[in-house]
Amino acid sequence: MGEFELIRQYFMPLARLHGPHSLLVGPGDDCAIQQVPSGSDLVFSIDTLVVGVHFPLSYRPDYLGWRSLAVAASDLAAMGADPTCFTLALTLPEADEVWLRDFAFGLGKAAESFGLVLAGGDTTRGPLALSLQVHGLVPHGAAIRRSGARPGDLIVVSGTLGDAGAALDYLEALSPSTDEEFVLERYHHPEPRLTLGVALRSLATAAIDVSDGLLADLGHILEASSVGASIERARLPVSPALKRLKGLAAQDYALHSGDDYELCATIPEASWAGAPSSLKQQLTVIGVIESARGLRLDGAAVGSEADAVGFDHFRRKS
Ligand code: ADP
Ligand code: MG
Repeated sequence: MGEFELIRQYFMPLARLHGPHSLLVGPGDDCAIQQVPSGSDLVFSIDTLVVGVHFPLSYRPDYLGWRSLAVAASDLAAMGADPTCFTLALTLPEADEVWLRDFAFGLGKAAESFGLVLAGGDTTRGPLALSLQVHGLVPHGAAIRRSGARPGDLIVVSGTLGDAGAALDYLEALSPSTDEEFVLERYHHPEPRLTLGVALRSLATAAIDVSDGLLADLGHILEASSVGASIERARLPVSPALKRLKGLAAQDYALHSGDDYELCATIPEASWAGAPSSLKQQLTVIGVIESARGLRLDGAAVGSEADAVGFDHFRRKS
């Protein structure tokens, strides 16, 4: 199967997702064309996954398709961007049609679910690797940066933390229990918090997606904003499944492990008080921004890097 046949068969369908989007020209020309409405900023980001580094060769291709777009789209969520389209640079050792079909299926499900239409790409031969660039739009100046956190802002996180990190312990399980399956699903099919990100645009002073672990990622907000923070271990949102699987260590997973792709944001107290309850229900307050630099956990100083060392086996960058 030739390069163009491969693109036509497996990837063109992802360029035909219906619904409103700002793509004027998709795959097939020298460039794609996206219309940027006046008064909007284009927000874009690229992520690369390499076989043997970010996923094993045997990793299910449909899961890989979903996960690779989810991970990329999560950066749009963190900025409060409305997703529009993406490009895919795919390096393949061979045109394995079963692999391609399953990969395109997972990718297509994710694209549909996140509202991202395929705008184009590049297809080359070599060791399996993928780069996905995602585009989104925000009203001019409205993107949520890492640098806006101010003393007194509440620190909130979405969903539950630690599930995907715990799943790494069960990737090889032959017949996982219900709880193990729950955390495995969180790892294989992360849900970028796109709608929540857009809702946070008018409330949050800073935001980041939790890809490397809460301490590490909150640390990036603190650094960019030149502030410190206090958080409380007992407030960390952990799933019942994680609690049953890991007992008292569940909160360590919530602090240190990555891959959950939840959002961590900072919100002024007055804005939080006036926020709609439907939004509040999706978030848990875990602490507060302070002017004194550094991060304090239950009052004791933690260095985001130093403290993570003992838990290195949880950590897996993506
Ligand atoms: P060029 O040589 O002009 O860079 P290519 O031969 O790389 O063009 O690609 C031809 C067309 O096919 C382009 O419109 C490109 O966006 C699209 N394309 C190539 N690979 C992919 C892919 N994996 N997914 C979607 N579109 C692709
Ligand atoms: Mg060309």
